[in-house]
Amino acid sequence: MRFQLATYRCDPNGHLFRAPTILGGHGVFLARSSGEGDLAYVDAVSDDAFGDLRSILRGIPTFMQLHELERGKVVQDLFSITCDYDSQGAPYVLNRDPCCIHCSDCNVRFIEATDPPEFVDIDVPEVSHGRWDSMSVTDRRTAIEQALNEYFIDRADW
Ligand SMILES: [Zn+2]
Repeated sequence: MRFQLATYRCDPNGHLFRAPTILGGHGVFLARSSGEGDLAYVDAVSDDAFGDLRSILRGIPTFMQLHELERGKVVQDLFSITCDYDSQGAPYVLNRDPCCIHCSDCNVRFIEATDPPEFVDIDVPEVSHGRWDSMSVTDRRTAIEQALNEYFIDRADW
């Protein structure tokens, strides 16, 4: 798969480095695991778990009261719940920034896309949903309600 390179900077040490990203992906997202940063991609249009997650959330009034932009963010945040873990047992997170390649610090910000754009071809698997698929409808709903409650608790701390 072909990804555009973007420049990131780690906050603590100011290292600049480049890492693959998807910009304006039209429903295609890049996920990074929170462990070693393993990459996986998600095609939100064809991914059944993504649709499932959205329809469960639409049935929850506190979710529907959110602004449309925030709803989009919540869907992306909670998508981790539906994904299998990486080979080290770490969860995948959509649109997670890479950790610094120099000092491994993960407090990193996006600076800019390469311009002119530079691309890199890497083998990236699609996220899998074995764990999610084996959960009952009730368990899925409970897991999502729980994660949504945690989201609201974190949000209250802003
Ligand atoms: Zn660094």
